[in-house]
Amino acid sequence: MYQHHFPAVYNNKQRHFFDNASTTQYCTTAIETTSMLDNLPRSNITRGIYKEAEIISEYYEQARQTIAKLIGAKAHEIIFCRGTTEALNISARCLTENLKKNQAVLITDAEHHSNFLPWIELCKQKNLQLYRLPVDTNGAIDLSQLTNFEDKNIAILSITHCSNVTGVISDISLIKKWCIRNNIILVVDGAQMIQHDIPNVSNLDADVYCFSGHKVFASSGIGVLYAKEKLLEKWQPIMWGGGMVLDMPMLNSSELDNSWLKIPQKFEAGTPPYQQAIILSHTLKWLASLDQQALHKHHQSLLKKTNTLLQKYSFIDIIHHSNLPRHPIFAFNIHHLHPHDAAHLFNELGFCLRAGHHCAKPLMKSLHIHACLRISLSCYNTLEELDLFEDALKTIYQHSQKFLTC
Ligand code: PMP
Repeated sequence: MYQHHFPAVYNNKQRHFFDNASTTQYCTTAIETTSMLDNLPRSNITRGIYKEAEIISEYYEQARQTIAKLIGAKAHEIIFCRGTTEALNISARCLTENLKKNQAVLITDAEHHSNFLPWIELCKQKNLQLYRLPVDTNGAIDLSQLTNFEDKNIAILSITHCSNVTGVISDISLIKKWCIRNNIILVVDGAQMIQHDIPNVSNLDADVYCFSGHKVFASSGIGVLYAKEKLLEKWQPIMWGGGMVLDMPMLNSSELDNSWLKIPQKFEAGTPPYQQAIILSHTLKWLASLDQQALHKHHQSLLKKTNTLLQKYSFIDIIHHSNLPRHPIFAFNIHHLHPHDAAHLFNELGFCLRAGHHCAKPLMKSLHIHACLRISLSCYNTLEELDLFEDALKTIYQHSQKFLTC
């Protein structure tokens, strides 16, 4: 249904890419935009007073406006950066800058390391308390425990919008209400949401929202840091260089603070990944132009079929069972088979599956496992591929049984 938009998918029918939480295939729009830009005379953005520079600068600012409109933000609230990891690092750095020693940060045990490590490091550096909202026995973030943190002087809550291990979608509207009641800034890691559902940051009322281009059919090396204007105005840049300063106060560093350009330029020192930003904007525009209801229905049918399939076999331990809203991401283990061996065997049979801790070691620890297999499906995956996957699964299990008995 969607495969024809993805040349690497329809030209490789013998391979089945089931690792879309890790990265996604390029869509035709991304490929065509890349080619269009590669054929333009090259020029840096904003620096030149000649036609070529003006054209590419216009494309770049248009990209910002397009993305802002698609996610319900203002253009100057969009900071282009390398990806979710960089966006979370910048936010963590800026948000913890002026916290007092008695203030705290709350994250959850379901976070990707990218939403764990910056907070651990900065809380350590600044002597702040870091709390973790636990997950339930099923691996879902346990929102009922939020009340236990109301007397902890939490200033920031940073949470994933969708888990990269269980696919469970966090109830941001409920979380935001709690944040408002407790005067807490809400940071949302949107890395796993973006390919399934383009967020509307105004409706979500997230203070900060981060995502990566490569997880939504566009290039790597580009990401978006959205933050509310009032935050960005307050934050100090954490990178310095060309294109972000109004005046150069020579050696008098005390004048520097008043010299930054306005947002967003204040946060985009140096030559930004402007081609990738343009590719991302065209890709998101294309994605938004699809029938969103049909897309959602397709994701849900993949979800339902995978769930039924995995539940059929008693030799499979599914990591997360629930009726919570989720995207088609499944973690599981096959009895008596190490996930790395299983992933290797799946590869032999044409399937790209991820195995390991999925950069979510705290979650693995909470679930008392070291590693697991993961299927993460995207719009170009099909129900027929899941039938083939079921055959491969049975073959692999039979194979592993033989191995056990010899
Ligand atoms: N958060 C989540 C939930 C993720 O799944 C990932 C990537 N696997 C990241 C953050 C980091 O994204 P990136 O590597 O694109 O910076």
